Amino acid sequence: MLARNQASHGGLARKDMTAPIAKLSFWGVRGSTPTVDPATWRYGGNTPCLELIAPDGTQFILDCGTGLRMLGSRWAAPSGGKTPETHIFVTHYHWDHIQGIPFFAPLYVENNEFHFYSFRSKYLGRDSLKQVFEAQMALPYFPVDMSAMNAKRKFKEVEGGDSFQIGENTITARWLNHPQGCLGFRIETPAGTVAYATDNEPGDATLDESLRELASGADIFINDAQFTPEQLETTRKGWGHSSWLEGVKVARHTGAKTLVLFHHDPDSTDRMVDSILRQAREEFDSVFAASEGMVITLGAPGDRVQAHMPGTRTALRREAQFNAKVCGVTEGGKDFEEETVVRDLSLQGALISLKHLPRLQSELQVTMEAPGADGVQSMKLRGYVVRIDSGTEKGHIAVGVVFTD
Ligand SMILES: [Zn+2]
Ligand SMILES: [Zn+2]
Repeated sequence: MLARNQASHGGLARKDMTAPIAKLSFWGVRGSTPTVDPATWRYGGNTPCLELIAPDGTQFILDCGTGLRMLGSRWAAPSGGKTPETHIFVTHYHWDHIQGIPFFAPLYVENNEFHFYSFRSKYLGRDSLKQVFEAQMALPYFPVDMSAMNAKRKFKEVEGGDSFQIGENTITARWLNHPQGCLGFRIETPAGTVAYATDNEPGDATLDESLRELASGADIFINDAQFTPEQLETTRKGWGHSSWLEGVKVARHTGAKTLVLFHHDPDSTDRMVDSILRQAREEFDSVFAASEGMVITLGAPGDRVQAHMPGTRTALRREAQFNAKVCGVTEGGKDFEEETVVRDLSLQGALISLKHLPRLQSELQVTMEAPGADGVQSMKLRGYVVRIDSGTEKGHIAVGVVFTD
């Protein structure tokens, strides 16, 4: 939880416990193909996979890209309801949305049960997703066959226009504009609404309207932002993807509250995604760039939408003692400058204690001073805020940055 909320809502702790809260985790955010290029490390290289835990304990998994393997390796069976259930929605059958399936360890555990939802593809016919499983696991493409997959699997066909209930949650599916078809999903939970609309291209009047229906008033609207607006108009027209600008337009038009830019192009370096995010933030107030490991909670008192990054990707750290000057922009959009001491440093980043609350995914200018041969030398680094935690010092918060140069 963000320190700011702890500070300003500390007195409401008792009330907080009764508020329905949903938790959305990003396990894979890259489009088309996984990337292992170090220049894409910060936002992450796994292909689409999201997890939403609704207040009633129902676990939803959105898409089965390579991020699904990571989810499987940290698997904790869903809890909350009497019979914990996992419902997996597959938007379409392009590789980047299915390639994690054979590597999802919980599928090989007998007592697990999964409900899969996807559409009947005209290229595959009946039981499309079941066929995808079998084809992926067929020899010689994979070393073990289907009989090893012991978990119970139930398959349900859905189409654009369908709406149904799972536990306390209402799910709506709509067709999106993408080669060979793609479904977008809207999940309404008592804590808030998440609209997931990856792999879509604007320009088809009917399907543009479907997209707006999915996004309408959503607390979190996750939209395809693979290309720049310039690419979308020229070299990448017809490829089935969208841009940050289209996401902003739809969010504005439909009253969606927070926009999450998703399905980053494999050729987009972290710097390029930074720039896409910066442009989107100039046009719309609440925008995040989907980032592997990011968790967004929904429905907490105070800020209804809170994003944070758990410390799962931290590098080797060393305690240090550098005087530093930090310049940045606060959550409220004001410039600040502050003197502090950096006490924890790694090759990639640092943990800095600050009184100001910088914006998550914003840039900080960190100037550190270290004694050198010719007296004190200063080192200027650009840091990017990846996490914000309550600090150990009173009145301070701990800000995790990754150095970008
Ligand atoms: Zn895709
Ligand atoms: Zn696709």
